[in-house]
Amino acid sequence: MIIMKTDATQEQIAEVVKEIKKCGLRADVSQGKYRTVIGLVGDETKIPFAHFAVLPGVKEAMMVETPYKLISREYSKFSEGEGEGLVVKVGNIEIGGDVPIFIAGPCAVESKEQLFKIAEEVKKAGAHILRGGVFKPRSSVHSFQGLGAAGWEEAEKALDWLREAGKRFKLPVVTEIRGEAQVDLAAKYADMLQIGARNMYNQDLLSKVAKKNKPVLFKRHFGAGIEEFLSFAEYIAVEGNKNIVLCERGILPLGKGKNYTRYTLDLAAVPTIQKETYLPVIVDPSHGTGRRDLIFNMSCAAIAAGASGLMIEAHYNPAEALVDAQQAITPDELKETIDACQRIHKLIASERNEKG
Ligand code: PEP
Ligand code: MN
Repeated sequence: MIIMKTDATQEQIAEVVKEIKKCGLRADVSQGKYRTVIGLVGDETKIPFAHFAVLPGVKEAMMVETPYKLISREYSKFSEGEGEGLVVKVGNIEIGGDVPIFIAGPCAVESKEQLFKIAEEVKKAGAHILRGGVFKPRSSVHSFQGLGAAGWEEAEKALDWLREAGKRFKLPVVTEIRGEAQVDLAAKYADMLQIGARNMYNQDLLSKVAKKNKPVLFKRHFGAGIEEFLSFAEYIAVEGNKNIVLCERGILPLGKGKNYTRYTLDLAAVPTIQKETYLPVIVDPSHGTGRRDLIFNMSCAAIAAGASGLMIEAHYNPAEALVDAQQAITPDELKETIDACQRIHKLIASERNEKG
């Protein structure tokens, strides 16, 4: 990491970038409120730090020993000061700002009617962003794979419904991209691109999605540790796209007996990740529990833990949802949940302010 002096000129910054490239590395130039910080992308051991430290305009050249740098608190501390975290804009919605953001919708887009009906109802319930999967990751090849499985034309039709439903009800939309071949198409229709838990480790997909320069909803793999999760988020950041929203969605439960939940929702991950990075963190209690009767409680808990928002699966007829029927809640339940979360957020925010 190269920290420039506050009065460093653009020429001096360009010179440092040139020197970094000469060493075979890439440079991430972050021009912050206070000063410019340049992150080195690649193998830092190749860098003669002493040489960089004496270049004109350079305040300090230092080695950062974490597998993620560009998304670290430390990196933003030098350019932005000790201020707030990053606010990620999705359409006109800000994730990571002063209020929690609720992403809701069906697990899968099933039909135009289903989607429009749910979009209207989640909007009324207080949701800010509409979700809906067209390319579904499924454990069994024999189950419904999303409308995208029927071919590109069907996929495009479903994505178009998503965009139209979003426009009609003034909700930006997010959809999952399951494979590299889907990136260009999905990016044409969605405001935010989701990388699902199963693809957290898919470096090529991460890079390709990042390059679309749209906000990315990045979900933690159910077997990934926090450091690993953040290390892979860095693959998005190095492409110059820091508009990343991290999502805790549950990790594999332990032990042999019945666990009663689909995954173990790791709520301690929220404040832990917030200490490590400036990126906003949201929670998905739907996949995190797999049980509709637990969504209310875990949503409240996630907001109390400091999450910047939630992603909740909702359906007007949960039992009939083609995917994840057991965890979808009704629009009425969604409203109840969002209202409670808003109250909890206010309470917790004032408690935190008092605590300082
Ligand atoms: C989803 O959000 O639709 C989904 C499949 O979640 P996850 O990737 O967390 O399993
Ligand atoms: Mn689902």
